[in-house]
Amino acid sequence: MRVIFSNRAYTSVLAETAEKIKTETGGLFLGTIQDDTWYIIEAIDPGPKSIFEVAYFEYDQKYTQHLINKIANLYDKQLLLIGLWHRHPGSFDQFSSTDDGTNAKYASMRKEGAISALVNIDPKFRITMYQVDRPCSYRKIPYDVGDNLIPDKFLKFKSLEKFNSIINNSLYLSSSKRKAVEGYHRSVSLATFIKFISPMLHDEECTDVGANNLLGDEPIQERLVDEIIDDLTFMADALDIETAICLENNYLTIYQEAIDKTTKIYFMFSAAKQSVIFSYDNKCYRYHKGLFKETFEKTKANREQRDNNEKSNKPQKQMGVFDSVIKIIKLNKDEG
Ligand SMILES: [Zn+2]
Repeated sequence: MRVIFSNRAYTSVLAETAEKIKTETGGLFLGTIQDDTWYIIEAIDPGPKSIFEVAYFEYDQKYTQHLINKIANLYDKQLLLIGLWHRHPGSFDQFSSTDDGTNAKYASMRKEGAISALVNIDPKFRITMYQVDRPCSYRKIPYDVGDNLIPDKFLKFKSLEKFNSIINNSLYLSSSKRKAVEGYHRSVSLATFIKFISPMLHDEECTDVGANNLLGDEPIQERLVDEIIDDLTFMADALDIETAICLENNYLTIYQEAIDKTTKIYFMFSAAKQSVIFSYDNKCYRYHKGLFKETFEKTKANREQRDNNEKSNKPQKQMGVFDSVIKIIKLNKDEG
């Protein structure tokens, strides 16, 4: 396992360190992971409102999120938030307990964990690179610098043609098509969807999935696909929630990647419960065919009822209830 910095990302770390030489500083890594190699394509600064103290640091989240979106939008391939770095005083090149908390948070975002780098000036600039496994264990890994070590596709910007097609799409969508799809609630994130329906789901308290005697042979995998396919179709067609499926041993995972996190729902068959169950956010639920659609319709009806009661004296155009509670995260559909 190793890390490759693009020339630009490496220079960004140098520049940030040199600029804030009297204090601690740090930043975030955007890039991609392939074949055990972490490619850092961009390193972004922590922002004007970041706080760096001896045992504490905090990035300016509004600023970094803004910059992540701006920079990621330049590239042809999707860039992921894969890690972070910060400067330590003197020669201290290990993590503090505060760092452990931050690193664990970043590592929890994807199955490969994250990378976390420490910069020391003692008295020359040096980087110590760590890979952080979930929940929080470290190993030092080597790094190199050079665009020539990075596959071209990761460094490639979006082309004029691609931007033209995006422009066309939005022009088109903003006129005729938007009218045609009114009534549908487009481009909802998977996380938002689950958050919306979760109050109506019942926690089965089986977070210890090992205790559920999971079955994992081929007929079971087929059955899992068969069980959830209706809901996936509903989510894709009615709500435009784009998800990917992955079958792995006992689990069927549906997931959706966004720039700052991946949302995953694990489905499995519990022999103990003689039922399909799914787990999300450390909670576990019993599942049956069409549960998501059913729960969505129920939740929506309840909300509409509630809103109608609240607004009964104010005749006004009803906003799409779902629209008003969701934060839309639009995925780059044709990345790949
Ligand atoms: Zn630290």
